[in-house]
Amino acid sequence: MKYDVLTTDSAGTDTSLATAEDGTCSMTASQILTELGIDHQTDVPLAPLTWYGVGGHAECLAKPTDEAQLASLMQKCAQYQIPVRILGSGANLLVSDAGVRGVVVRLEHPNFSQINIDGTKVTVGAGYDLAKLVLDTAREGLAGLEVLAGIPASVGGAVRMNAGGKFGEIGPVVTKVRVMDESGEIYERYRDDLVFGYRKSNIKALVILDVEFDLSEDDPNQLMKQVKEIFMYKKNTQPLADDSAGCAFKNPLKNENDANPYLDYSAGKLIDMAELKGYTIGGASISQRHANFVVAGDNCTATDIINLLNHITQTVLEKYGVRLKHEIVIW
Ligand SMILES: Cc1cc2nc3c(=O)[nH]c(=O)nc-3n(C[C@H](O)[C@H](O)[C@H](O)COP(=O)(O)OP(=O)(O)OC[C@H]3O[C@@H](n4cnc5c(N)ncnc54)[C@H](O)[C@@H]3O)c2cc1C
Repeated sequence: MKYDVLTTDSAGTDTSLATAEDGTCSMTASQILTELGIDHQTDVPLAPLTWYGVGGHAECLAKPTDEAQLASLMQKCAQYQIPVRILGSGANLLVSDAGVRGVVVRLEHPNFSQINIDGTKVTVGAGYDLAKLVLDTAREGLAGLEVLAGIPASVGGAVRMNAGGKFGEIGPVVTKVRVMDESGEIYERYRDDLVFGYRKSNIKALVILDVEFDLSEDDPNQLMKQVKEIFMYKKNTQPLADDSAGCAFKNPLKNENDANPYLDYSAGKLIDMAELKGYTIGGASISQRHANFVVAGDNCTATDIINLLNHITQTVLEKYGVRLKHEIVIW
């Protein structure tokens, strides 16, 4: 079968597709997006789009305008085996220095950030800023999301990661998600069938499109007070002014058959006990303020951070027999 769909792109460049002798043909990510009329750029540095501010380029960065464009992008990329990744606020992400092949999608069009409040039910697009949602709902006198104050995220990224901490998580107030899979199919999943665990969920579809929360009525002044207190707590205990992706490692999980007492310790405590606070590789260092934060300083590269993560893993394993797992997502 011949794919003879492109001759020139919008810049007038010849993009005719090479057809192999057996008649098969491949398309680049850019050719696909051009053919579909989807706004995109090629060879885009991802560092400015992440909280770490390091790492390489994306072959293509796509900004679909609506679900129909997103579905056609997914279908075509699946057909040509081009990888697709979803980028939220980039607050839990480390992009390797080599960058990523294929398409990185940002749901930044306003169509992906709609919000509807109906009583205690809040339905919000995946592209909506979580910090804004926390404030919106607190001001409306709706409780449940104030526990997420100070967590940088898009709503989609927060649900994907089951964001949360000492004060609570996002999972318990999610009642429905609408998702899109690799073939562009959209389907809904309801609370009964959703399982949220420690920084994870059973939502495996590639894209979370929007989320419905069921919140409860409360006093707006009290909720705003809680938001401020939680934010101050985070500001006082975490290096929020430094470039990071939040906690680098998950806390160890212990099951009843595990005899190792160090599994009861938090990842930060283990790193601290290993006397690694302040340890530096290249431009990456372990925060003095919070041992589970690996922060990026001047001239830091993603490789520096990965080498430091590996050093921490190795040291904690050797000293305490605990194999720490990354909380940070690495592309
Ligand atoms: C200073 C700082 C403090 C932090 N504190 C906390 C904390 O207290 N608790 C906590 O849990 N986290 C914390 N984090 C980490 C981060 O805020 C969360 O993990 C957050 O949920 C990431 O959301 P995001 O939109 O930035 O996702 P990204 O970092 O952009 O992506 C993370 C993952 O989610 C996927 N994803 C993003 N959007 C979608 C979508 N729409 N559909 C499907 N998949 C998607 C990405 O593909 C990727 O796999 C902190 C980070 C920083 C920088």
